[in-house]
Amino acid sequence: MSASNRDALRAALLYLLISLIWLQLSGHLLNSFFDSSLELLRWQLINGYAWAVLTAGLIFLTRARLFRFLEVDARLLDRADDRERLRQAAAVFDCTREGVLVTDKNGVIVHVNRAFIQITGYQSPEVLGQKPSVFKSGHHPLAFYQAMFTKLDNAGEWSGEIWNRRKCGEIYPQWQTIRVIHDDQGHVSHYVAVFSDISAIKDSEYELKHLAHHDPLTDLPNRLLFTDRAEQALASAQVHKRSCALLLVDLDHFKMINDSLGHTIGDQLLKAVAERLSTLFDPGVTLARLSGDEFAVLAESCPQLGHAPALAQRILDALKKSFEIEGHALFINASIGISLFPGDALNAEQLLRNADSALFKAKSTGRNGFALYTEELTAHAQQRVETAFELRRALEQDELRVYFQPVHDLKTCRLIGVETLVRWEHPQRGLVSPAEFIPIAERTGLIAEIDAWVMRQACQQMCEWQQAGVVLSFVAVNVSSRLFARRELYQQVAQVLQETGLEPAFLELEVTESAVMDDPEVALEQMHRLRELGVRLAIDDFGTGYSSLLRLKRLPVQKLKIDQGFVAGLPWDEDDAAIVRVIIALAQSMGMQVHAEGIEQVEQAGFLLEQGCDLGQGYWFGRPVPAEQLDWDRLLVIE
Ligand code: C2E
Ligand code: MG
Ligand code: MG
Repeated sequence: MSASNRDALRAALLYLLISLIWLQLSGHLLNSFFDSSLELLRWQLINGYAWAVLTAGLIFLTRARLFRFLEVDARLLDRADDRERLRQAAAVFDCTREGVLVTDKNGVIVHVNRAFIQITGYQSPEVLGQKPSVFKSGHHPLAFYQAMFTKLDNAGEWSGEIWNRRKCGEIYPQWQTIRVIHDDQGHVSHYVAVFSDISAIKDSEYELKHLAHHDPLTDLPNRLLFTDRAEQALASAQVHKRSCALLLVDLDHFKMINDSLGHTIGDQLLKAVAERLSTLFDPGVTLARLSGDEFAVLAESCPQLGHAPALAQRILDALKKSFEIEGHALFINASIGISLFPGDALNAEQLLRNADSALFKAKSTGRNGFALYTEELTAHAQQRVETAFELRRALEQDELRVYFQPVHDLKTCRLIGVETLVRWEHPQRGLVSPAEFIPIAERTGLIAEIDAWVMRQACQQMCEWQQAGVVLSFVAVNVSSRLFARRELYQQVAQVLQETGLEPAFLELEVTESAVMDDPEVALEQMHRLRELGVRLAIDDFGTGYSSLLRLKRLPVQKLKIDQGFVAGLPWDEDDAAIVRVIIALAQSMGMQVHAEGIEQVEQAGFLLEQGCDLGQGYWFGRPVPAEQLDWDRLLVIE
């Protein structure tokens, strides 16, 4: 019996009971008050009972119908709610950007949404009735799917990255969540999978990873990736008892290409070098670009000792052929430093450091060659560190000295100026040459202090000579290229001149040709400022720095100093003689004085004079000496 019928029956029975009690009572009352006949009384009771039963029946029927009506109405209301909810769910299902796939408990696809069609490329009729295994990519092993179903059985849900195949055959990654749906009885009724296509994220992840590990210009591995590979290679070489080699390749004078032809051509040349080098190596050799014009090569297996030098030679040979870039035929050499594992170093960092020391050696022994790292090189590096430390102390404890070397007028043979050259009076080592400590001072930044000190000493000395009646046309001081690139140089010179009271025209600043040509625009600006102060400017070691004539012409310089390397072979070496002749002619055509250094023999002085060289300096005239030891006989003294 339904609940509504039960309620109606209960109400009818209650009514009947009350009616019967009432009829019983009313029978007794009638009998006692009116003393009616028994027949009449019975008749009335029977009538009453019949009426009560009839009315109870009517009550039952009415209530039962009413309840049923109410119940149906409630159910209808519930159903309308459900329909609304379903409509909403369907809208979400269809509009969501995630693909949705529903299977029955047997894994047969019963529903897919619009996003599913967009992502997979399948239409609904093509997949309904199929199993999701049709999308398998073959990317995952069986164990992957087993673990997935175990998780679904135990936890009712699984999420993770899964690679599936689109209709076009492309494999792509999805982030997928699968949930088990149970019916009222708790049995599995469906599986719902919701997934998004994460290939775009994966692509950008890959791109980011690639960017972080590769040089954007050449697409070669960068320092980070190279170091990582080197570490792995060394670990594996250790296990397999193999040797490895690390070669650091640095292009010689690359900066000149950048400066003279522009950075775009410089970049293209770097790319072309990278491409050419890449073709040289077999698998097992990694080529990387570590910085600007520095490349690194890691050879993971070097069976013999000669393998790495042979590889270096192959690189040098490959670079011999010109690079055709935007109509220019460019030539570039390289210097290579080699460090070997396990002979020279036991880890990647040390291997790189040692290759760098070897590179330094290759560069300083004339470039376009290679050098191997040796223990002796390490000792050299250690000594450099010690010297840097001691040099600081030298400045504090006044161990530096200024020496002066005479400069003579070649025609009159008279001493007309001096070049100031610094010396270090080391407490243990004696007099240390600037050739040893100036490069270290440049690397440690101490050079600024040293040059400022030398300049002050030179200016003071010149003032003293002038006060003593000695006439010299100039006192020259060397300015390091490191200092020359700094804007403060101008203020520093102005300050020294002001403090010492020397007339600016008596001070000559020597700047090396390479310092000027390394950054010609900055050099030009610097030189103009210095000229405004009234000081003289000379280019030192001319002939060694690849000057551009066009640039040279624009420089506000009064003097070219021919490098002693060209003077050494005079007058017999034809090449030296030809170069010197050209430099003299060049200087004269640009209205500059020419000054030859390193004159050790009278023949050299004679040749230079013949060619029209103005000034001469060298051991033949006099060595650098302290001020008090200068040869006064050759000075022009005012009477
Ligand atoms: P530099 O400016 O070209 O100086 C000339 C160098 O040639 C000096 O070497 C000088 O002693 C040497 N020399 C002069 N005549 C002869 C000769 O006839 N034969 C030979 N073989 N050598 C000769 P030094 O004094 O050892 O200086 C070397 C370099 O150190 C200088 O070359 C200069 O570039 C640098 N230097 C010296 N003093 C200073 C300084 O105060 N500041 C800076 N920044 N550099 C300095
Ligand atoms: Mg000099
Ligand atoms: Mg010089």
